[in-house]
Amino acid sequence: MNGDGSASPSVVVIGGGLAGLAAAIAAADDGWRVTVVETRPRLGGLTHSFPRDIAGTAAEIDNGQHVFLRCCTAYRAFLHRLGVADRTVLQHRLDLPVLEPGTGRRVRITRDRFPAPYHLLRALVRYRLVGPRDRWTAARALAALRHLDRDAAWTDEQSFAQWLESHRVTPTAIRRLFDLFTVATLNAPARQVSLRLAAMVFQEGLLTDPAACDIGYPAIPLGRLHGQAAQRVLDRLGARVLLRHRARQVWLSPDRRWRVPVENGASHERRELEADAVVIAVPHDRVSELVPPQAIPVSPELLRPSPIINVHVVFERRVLDVPFAAAVDSPAQFLFDRTASAGLDPTEGLQYLAISVSAAREWIGMPVADLRARFLPELARLLPAAAHARVVDFFVTREPAATFLPEPGSAAYRLATRTRLPGLLLAGAWTDTGWPATMEGAVRSGWAAARALGELRGEPTRAVDLRGAKRSNVAAPTEDPARVEA
Ligand SMILES: Cc1cc2nc3c(=O)[nH]c(=O)nc-3n(C[C@H](O)[C@H](O)[C@H](O)COP(=O)(O)OP(=O)(O)OC[C@H]3O[C@@H](n4cnc5c(N)ncnc54)[C@H](O)[C@@H]3O)c2cc1C
Repeated sequence: MNGDGSASPSVVVIGGGLAGLAAAIAAADDGWRVTVVETRPRLGGLTHSFPRDIAGTAAEIDNGQHVFLRCCTAYRAFLHRLGVADRTVLQHRLDLPVLEPGTGRRVRITRDRFPAPYHLLRALVRYRLVGPRDRWTAARALAALRHLDRDAAWTDEQSFAQWLESHRVTPTAIRRLFDLFTVATLNAPARQVSLRLAAMVFQEGLLTDPAACDIGYPAIPLGRLHGQAAQRVLDRLGARVLLRHRARQVWLSPDRRWRVPVENGASHERRELEADAVVIAVPHDRVSELVPPQAIPVSPELLRPSPIINVHVVFERRVLDVPFAAAVDSPAQFLFDRTASAGLDPTEGLQYLAISVSAAREWIGMPVADLRARFLPELARLLPAAAHARVVDFFVTREPAATFLPEPGSAAYRLATRTRLPGLLLAGAWTDTGWPATMEGAVRSGWAAARALGELRGEPTRAVDLRGAKRSNVAAPTEDPARVEA
């Protein structure tokens, strides 16, 4: 297979996000000579951190709060491979406080030890942010959703909201219960989400395995958790990482070797890499410029982007008494205490909150001053202590293309790992993983590419096994010792 006669085959991975990193590390583990090409000066893609001086302390701020669930087995196994699983927190058992603006009302979504779906029955009965009829219609719909064949073609033809309405779920239950989950996991409300992906999230996360829904989150900045840790692993494996290098359209030479033109973003020096295979792990809207047109059946650029913003607020004192909380009927959808994880000292009294706002089309272009005028009063409505606490710092991070919009019809543009050309593979959270655009989907796509590389060689990959991922996660990341107090 190797044109240069060397023992191990070579692969160029274009894109150093989670998908590219998962593919690169698995391929290197399998003995491939790996080169990672990444435009930016760092690895980690959409998950990264930047420095900011907060009250005299050099804090590390994430571009956006990220969470995962216990059912994200591939992502969690990837954290183990990076050696950073203990730098995350994973709840013993789901415990999500949900706040109602203005009333001071708070409910907790918790799970019991019963088999699914009964583990959530008590939580639903106690979810007093909607009325008894809303809860009853929701329970009936969840029972039906559990048995829905999400692979049937028609499930990508209608929205989740249409399906819920056809099951007589009330608008209040859709807005105050279902949207809580779809906005957080799919980056869009039920009316914009395809039934297929919503069914996947509810079936895998809430309705099958009782432990699947426990929530995890990073205890250190994302840049260290992913990009820096992956760089260390790649260095140890002898992989080459070309940062600040942009790849251009790849081509297959007559000797059946892949050529990857790259340009150094600093010196503008151009050269061509050569490899037996290429994994293209870039965002969906960059794929067409990199692959030969005959390689793919449709352009994934037809997937539309969906933005996320994070509103970062540092208060002079503690205003949120739980690690995180969700809110209904509020633009401040999820609130996270990031004080310690950003490197600030919680004993000094300051509290740094990251407010995650998904499906943020309305907010993405709004000036900081306007966001401040909108979000600070909102925080005071959610957290009474915030009404009287001085704001030490306020800033906003924006990701216009955080995910693709998982709308009905989007499945047609999520491409498979293999292209029509031999040795040219695709990865990325947007590819046809069956998952929404998440860290889990990104890692799965990278591993799918690594498996396809193994098949090119006629050897199954030793490095990744999704069934094994579950077992390898028996030694779970740090369990949250303190239950969430609400
Ligand atoms: C604010 C925010 C919050 C999120 N919250 C969550 C969450 O809570 N839970 C969750 O699971 N997921 C969340 N996500 C989604 C998750 O971050 C992404 O799905 C995942 O990181 C995507 O990884 P990827 O490798 O597929 O793509 P990317 O991270 O986009 O990586 C692609 C890489 O390719 C590089 N590239 C592009 N073109 C070229 C080129 N020509 N040459 C070389 N390199 C190139 C890019 O620079 C980039 O680094 C969130 C995303 C954002 C932005």
